[in-house]
Amino acid sequence: MEEGTAWDFYKTLVYLLKDRLNVGWARTNKQYKYERKQVYYFSMEFLIGKLLAYYLMNLGLTEIVTEGLGELGINLQDLIDEERDAGLGNGGLGRLAACFLDSMAYLQIPGHGNGIRYKYGLFEQKIEQGFQVEVPDHWLKNGYPWEIRKPDKAVIVKFKGHLRVEYDRDRMIFHHENYEPVLAVPYDIPIVAYGNSPNVNTLRLWGAEAVNEEFDLASFNQGEFAKALSNKSEIEAISYILYPQDTTLAGQELRLKQEYFFVAAGLGAIVRRYKKQGGPIECFSQKVSVHINDTHPAMCVPELMRLLMDEEGLAWDDAWNITVNTLSYTNHTLLPEALEKWPIDLMKCTLPRIYLIIEEINRRFEEMLVSKYPGEQKLKDNTIILRDGYVHMANLAVIGCHSVNGVAKLHTEIVKSQVFQGFNVIYPDKFNNKTNGVSHRRFLLHANPSLAGFITEAIGPKWIEDPGELHKLLELQNDAVFLHYLSKAKKQNKINFAGAVKAKFGLELDPSSIFDIQVKRFHAYKRQLLNVLKIMDLYNRLKEQPRLAMFPQTFVFAGKAAPGYYYAKTVIKLINTLAQKINNDPEVNQLIKVVFLENFNVTLAEKIYPVADISEQISTASKEASGTGNMKFMMNGAITLGTLDGATVEIRDAVGKENIFIFGLKAEQVIDYQNRGAYNSWEEYQANPRLKRVVDQLINNFFKDCGNEFRVLYDSLLTHNDEFFILKDFNSYVETAAQITGIYLDEQIWHKKALANIAQSGIFSSDRAIREYAGAIWQV
Ligand SMILES: *Cc1c(COP(=O)(O)O)cnc(C)c1O
Repeated sequence: MEEGTAWDFYKTLVYLLKDRLNVGWARTNKQYKYERKQVYYFSMEFLIGKLLAYYLMNLGLTEIVTEGLGELGINLQDLIDEERDAGLGNGGLGRLAACFLDSMAYLQIPGHGNGIRYKYGLFEQKIEQGFQVEVPDHWLKNGYPWEIRKPDKAVIVKFKGHLRVEYDRDRMIFHHENYEPVLAVPYDIPIVAYGNSPNVNTLRLWGAEAVNEEFDLASFNQGEFAKALSNKSEIEAISYILYPQDTTLAGQELRLKQEYFFVAAGLGAIVRRYKKQGGPIECFSQKVSVHINDTHPAMCVPELMRLLMDEEGLAWDDAWNITVNTLSYTNHTLLPEALEKWPIDLMKCTLPRIYLIIEEINRRFEEMLVSKYPGEQKLKDNTIILRDGYVHMANLAVIGCHSVNGVAKLHTEIVKSQVFQGFNVIYPDKFNNKTNGVSHRRFLLHANPSLAGFITEAIGPKWIEDPGELHKLLELQNDAVFLHYLSKAKKQNKINFAGAVKAKFGLELDPSSIFDIQVKRFHAYKRQLLNVLKIMDLYNRLKEQPRLAMFPQTFVFAGKAAPGYYYAKTVIKLINTLAQKINNDPEVNQLIKVVFLENFNVTLAEKIYPVADISEQISTASKEASGTGNMKFMMNGAITLGTLDGATVEIRDAVGKENIFIFGLKAEQVIDYQNRGAYNSWEEYQANPRLKRVVDQLINNFFKDCGNEFRVLYDSLLTHNDEFFILKDFNSYVETAAQITGIYLDEQIWHKKALANIAQSGIFSSDRAIREYAGAIWQV
């Protein structure tokens, strides 16, 4: 105790907790083993964040642990802070996977996560002189006490080499020779649900290792250390880093290897486990569901075919039926540049057997098209897997899965009518919607204990297990005392947050100002730039009319940009430059402040959502598939200022139009403009002097010493005709923003709207989403 560091104490506490969990973990595994169908959620990303504080809460141990540690003179919060965020994801997609694991465990569904144990998570973001700087996230440096290495369950994954074909009467037998073997070693992480004697599910992450650990001793002895270790490091590179591209394709061979690596390891282990329990392989799909989160695990289609044919001896048609019935796929994006495709040559050489199977799937698919849709060239171009020298992964996924779902009603409609228009003709029954959800236990109960406490006092604790119960809050809409509690919780959160910002950045925030918040990955379609232009316009007006009647506002931003995404990084720099200018200008800084918080991750997210008054959800309509940040804000009583995009449409339907502030073009209008090529950003710019002024300020030395830094943004708006309709939506955005801040003057009305948002947020719990997946897609 005298020698121990906070890290030692943290680790010890986790080990103690794991000891306790093991009983429930073993019980859960046993219970799942015999009874029911297993679900495997395959995802390249799991953004699980920190576990200790959340698990203590779920287990009802926070109080006793606080007390026990207190007797030892240790502060629990200090140990909680020691944990590293498991940042194994980019943003929404990875966090969704984490929320789904949470809800599957809570709902006692035998749902297992399958992913990659990246040695380096998503980079850590630092801001230096206003610029984003990326620092590697070596989160495993001191070990990760939650994981359990299972070397006895390791699997060999084969790359490259060539195929030798042998004929056994009418059967072709493929021998994969001279391949490069990679050992996939599983590490299991417990997923602990909320409750009395909760189920403990498993997230299995695979790490890549050399099969033969005896490195090249001869070279080593001759002093050629690098050569001796080169094979080993080349192999370990497979699970080295998480690719930081959020929506655009990484073309690296390594990425292709990563995808096959965790697919082959995961499916190999699943088939092995299934057979060990003695089930006939013909019944596989009755006992196993494999879900693929976006197309990154789409190689499940050919890999399961390979296992069933080459290893289990099934004929093509039988293997195909099992494969399609086992697999289901979620589409996450409509951006054409984000639809994965791999060069055929690369796939052929890296994964020769997998490529052959894909070729055969494609051949049979084309054959079907010729017989059922003769002469329909457009349909063919829209749906075949192999085209223009590429393997189109989304097409492979749709053909090889029995279910294809979008992540919000609007998104699913656009998926059917645009991206997969052709497939919607061929397989209309495959398509369905499953609107995303978030863990209300993590993002409300755990992240916002003061609000959660008031809710429980008012309507009892049932909402924790059944978020639909939050509806009961509607009865309190005119209860002045309860509205006061809401306002008190928000105020206290803001005071604490302002204290933390002051301690970290030395910046003074006014907790009684309106907190207007946009936190999410930086991307052109998310339109952080629109928000910036709005703030610049507000600044201009304040400078002209210092007595402008307005309520003080604090604009908060956070989020990472992909390291190679110059435009997005420039927007980050712009925000920091604007923050400098505004925060240091005594003429305005009593009324407006701008703050950029570095390194947005789950831990920071949990601190930010609870302090928001306004939730900025301002993507170009039709571009954001669902969004989940919008749901987390809503649960915490923020009021949405947004476009009718993704799940924000459903938020509006739930709360009613008097409790949300909607502006801008609708999805169909955006699509129509695009189809007709009818938008001209120059006209918008010329027609609106306030708009023209802020756009000009990007390049006219309004920002001193910035030279041509923001020219790229100016050009995107005017030279490149404003692909994301920022200028088009500017007017209705600033008007609607003025309306929403106007409402804040009357606290009673404001908190009544906030209450309506909290009360209607139950449907956006991932419990609801998982129940829908379980019933309609996985049949568990
Ligand atoms: C919820 C969440 C996101 C997704 O936010 P959107 O606003 O839906 O893009 C991204 N990152 C983290 C850390 C999150 O918690």
